[in-house]
Amino acid sequence: MTFLSVADPPQSYIVFGKPDIRQPEIDEVLDSLRSGWLGTGPKVAAFERAIAQYVGVEHAVATNSCTAALHVALLALGIGPDDEVIVPTLTFCATANVVLHVGARPVFVDVDPASQCLTPDAVEAAITPRTKAVMPVHFAGWPADLPTLRRITDRHRLKLVQDAAHCLEGRIDGIPLSRYGDVTCFSFYSTKNVVTGEGGMAVTNDHTVASRMRVLGLHGIDADAWKRFSSAGYRHYSCIAPGFKYNMMDLQAALGLHQLARVDQSLRLRETQWARYQDALNGLPLDLPAAPPASVWHARHLYTIRVRPDAPVRRDALMSALHDRGIGTGVHYVPVHEHPYYRELLRGRDEAYPAASAIGRETCSLPLGPGLRDDEQARVIAALHEVLGGAGGS
Ligand SMILES: *Cc1c(COP(=O)(O)O)cnc(C)c1O
Repeated sequence: MTFLSVADPPQSYIVFGKPDIRQPEIDEVLDSLRSGWLGTGPKVAAFERAIAQYVGVEHAVATNSCTAALHVALLALGIGPDDEVIVPTLTFCATANVVLHVGARPVFVDVDPASQCLTPDAVEAAITPRTKAVMPVHFAGWPADLPTLRRITDRHRLKLVQDAAHCLEGRIDGIPLSRYGDVTCFSFYSTKNVVTGEGGMAVTNDHTVASRMRVLGLHGIDADAWKRFSSAGYRHYSCIAPGFKYNMMDLQAALGLHQLARVDQSLRLRETQWARYQDALNGLPLDLPAAPPASVWHARHLYTIRVRPDAPVRRDALMSALHDRGIGTGVHYVPVHEHPYYRELLRGRDEAYPAASAIGRETCSLPLGPGLRDDEQARVIAALHEVLGGAGGS
């Protein structure tokens, strides 16, 4: 027989980026399972319409990931071999990988330390006669300077493909980001603000680009499978391009429909948790996230702290200490140019990205979002005070 001490209950591990899955999602998935239609069907179509409406855009193409969405976006815009695409080095490797997938070359630029986004100046400095597109990442939910970026891309006749994996809710002075991009891509991966497990979406106001993306995302065939096999009767399909298998399933859209219905409610909660961290961590040897200007509507995807050089521990030691206390954290990101494959690719060009590299060494993302309870956030705050030697926790 074992005895559990009542005074010392086992604490559950706080999983970083835990999704907030509720009964409506569960019921909707069960409904799909019972209906017998698991694949791409009416729920995907409804989710596409709902996202298009939420971000104020005409066409939305659901995919099985944001990576897939970015890939078909570049293809549909005609980006290919010998082209250059400007990408911030402070991003998830997928942003750069897709540029290589289409045979083009990613040209990395540094980021602004406050917004952690690429800057218009860095973009202008990186433009060459081969540049075909710019891919801003709206880091942690802070929209990049899109009005200026759009002026630059228009002047140089470049495409603007947005990696908005962090920024479904973001706006600039109330204007949705999708208004600025040729194509804007979102992620519904399990840690993102709206979750479908795996999933993504490419949105655009260009009908031709939208239909190209739809065809390329489903084998290069000219009609959706569910239309072919529905009660309308069998239709022959034609393969018109060597496409990919990137379609979203109704099972995934079933989650997304109800996640999206709560997205603004979840954003309010993220804002509350964000403000709580800003208050409670002030005074620790950390650089806390900068406040964006009023025109920037932040999607609060990641709350990222930077461990200052005068802190008693370095970033990795802080993450281990938090892990030992049952708290999961993340690193967003080790810059792409520092990964082995890209080091090799860039060999001989000794470009430096000092802001992104410093962020890569010092940054740590704390748990945030509707999957995090108030008592769990209090544990995170108390642990940070304990490890970093602040006076008292909360
Ligand atoms: C999550 C993420 C991606 C990839 O999204 P998937 O849906 O997992 O393919 C791309 N870029 C950024 C910045 C991300 O955070």
